Amino acid sequence: MQISAEGLTEVTHQLLRRAGCEEGEAVCVAEHLVNANLKGHDSHGVGMLPVYVDFIARGLLHPNTPARLLRDGGAVLQFAGDRGFGQRVAKEAMQSAIERAAATGVCLMTLSSACHIGRIGTYGEMAAAAGLISIHFVNVNDHSALVAPFAGREARFGTNPICIAFPPSDGNAPFILDFATSIVALGKARVAYLGGKLFDEDVMLDSSGCPTNDPRVMWEGEQRGALRPIARHKGGGLILAAELLAGILSGGGTLQPGNERQGSIINNMTTIVIDPAHLVPLEWLRQEYDAMLAYVRSSERSDPDEPILIAGEPEERIRVQRDAEGIHIVDMEWQKIRAAGIALGMPSEVFADYTREPI
Ligand code: NAD
Repeated sequence: MQISAEGLTEVTHQLLRRAGCEEGEAVCVAEHLVNANLKGHDSHGVGMLPVYVDFIARGLLHPNTPARLLRDGGAVLQFAGDRGFGQRVAKEAMQSAIERAAATGVCLMTLSSACHIGRIGTYGEMAAAAGLISIHFVNVNDHSALVAPFAGREARFGTNPICIAFPPSDGNAPFILDFATSIVALGKARVAYLGGKLFDEDVMLDSSGCPTNDPRVMWEGEQRGALRPIARHKGGGLILAAELLAGILSGGGTLQPGNERQGSIINNMTTIVIDPAHLVPLEWLRQEYDAMLAYVRSSERSDPDEPILIAGEPEERIRVQRDAEGIHIVDMEWQKIRAAGIALGMPSEVFADYTREPI
């Protein structure tokens, strides 16, 4: 089905309120989720709602929990998420890091034990909008391992995203590089699985270690498969780097089996926010940014049908398209959201209304 961003935000907001979120938190989480759908990352959009509702019911996600400052060491800020909604606690911790970096030039911020913080690009966009650079390393714990190490066939990691953001100039949008260190994020495999689709390449291993493009290996069968890390041994190094930087520096812990796993999705994040004004003249920075991006775009294309894009551009293109045409939600995903909402006491007409909504 196809739904407008406003309609989807309204349903999401209502569902989060029913799930126990106070108004500000419901607005923050709904905005983050719908924005992820708008930018083409359905894996980190409203499809997560039934998962969050389940976590709340099991006492693994605590609504109305703010980010808690554990340590303020000048250029070092350490926060605990206390299993709060990740979209909220990470936004609050990020706001503090942005304010601090403006004073100190750089801020190393860590956040531990936040429930799923969603699309990491959201936090890079916050820094870029403030004219700052940010680097984010994230690990995932409290969950079974999903990604095999390079040359391994058994999973040992979460999908450990990394994000690097650079502020915009007058002529260019910000650079927002934001990716899982597995070839596909688990959420993308979930969306493909629910939609009955195969991937174009073998992004997973089945339970016997054979490469496959079929997402069913992650959910069906006695033994589950594993996602494969990006970029061979280099990606294998990066996924472990994210695990160590996020899991250890935040104090939240890594996915090593000595740490308890209760079956939710906990994210730890280590973030570096840099104010470039402390290093170089901003006018020169913007000129260099524009000149370098122009140089990149001027390369002859290897495939005439494939444009040279700067990270962040694909999301912006999809946002423009989905703003105009609405957001497509696969049927099975919408049914799960509807079931979760109705179980929380939402009237079924709410969903019927939106199902009919013309775009
Ligand atoms: P992806 O593969 O779709 O895109 C990754 C990056 O590549 C983006 O910065 C995008 O702008 C850029 N890009 C895409 N196509 C491009 C092109 N043709 N030319 C140039 N740049 C291009 O992302 P993904 O790995 O599937 O991750 C999806 C989302 O999942 C991310 O937002 C990530 O933060 C999120 N995630 C979150 C968690 C978590 O635990 N919270 C875990 C994993 C992933």
